[in-house]
Amino acid sequence: MADPIIGIDLGGTQLRAALCSPDGTLLRCIKKKTRAKGGPQVVMDRVAKAIRQVWPNEGDVQAISMVAPGPLDPFEGVVIEAPNLPGWDNVPVRDILAQEFDRPIFVGNDANLAALAEHRFGAGRGFDNLIYLTISTGVGGGIILDGKLLLGSKGLAGEIGHMILDPDGPICACGNHGCLEAYAGSTALLRRAREANIPQIETDDFICFFKDLSRRCKFPGNLSPHPYRLSTLSGK
Ligand SMILES: [Zn+2]
Repeated sequence: MADPIIGIDLGGTQLRAALCSPDGTLLRCIKKKTRAKGGPQVVMDRVAKAIRQVWPNEGDVQAISMVAPGPLDPFEGVVIEAPNLPGWDNVPVRDILAQEFDRPIFVGNDANLAALAEHRFGAGRGFDNLIYLTISTGVGGGIILDGKLLLGSKGLAGEIGHMILDPDGPICACGNHGCLEAYAGSTALLRRAREANIPQIETDDFICFFKDLSRRCKFPGNLSPHPYRLSTLSGK
């Protein structure tokens, strides 16, 4: 069987490292604190340590893949900016990892590669066209078009959270007004719930809402020949 792959999920609080077989079977997984306050060098040292911890005892690794939040350049492997990671300004993560690990290294936006994962192994199996949405503090997205991840010329095609719905709308964390994220991110939803005097609404209520939506939501048969699939993750 082909050698396994190592995947890294870099978040503002935690980072995870996993060893996976090419068919997606999880062989080993660890998580550790990101220690984001230490800056990019401290964090990248911890990423390298995590890779060594999940490295197979026997055999080899065919590639390393890393996801990070926020806008990044997947062609050059550079994290342009990362929310919740102070000091991350054009960090060349692919080159940093390549200095230590002589393997092909791929870097992608977390929502983009989650879309790819759902397409290959999850709710999107069997569909050539799908949109993946991640709704937490922000709104991220990934688009699979004709069976391939849509990146666009700068790798930012899936950043649907910053589509402007109303130029006069509420301010968004990116500085623009009226982005989808400024209406539908959990921070915005909680703010709007407070404004509507809905008491004691919690993030779990949103998770219940989306699970309920996944049960009930169907496109009219004459609009879409495909069933609507939704998988929900609580992140806990
Ligand atoms: Zn925005």
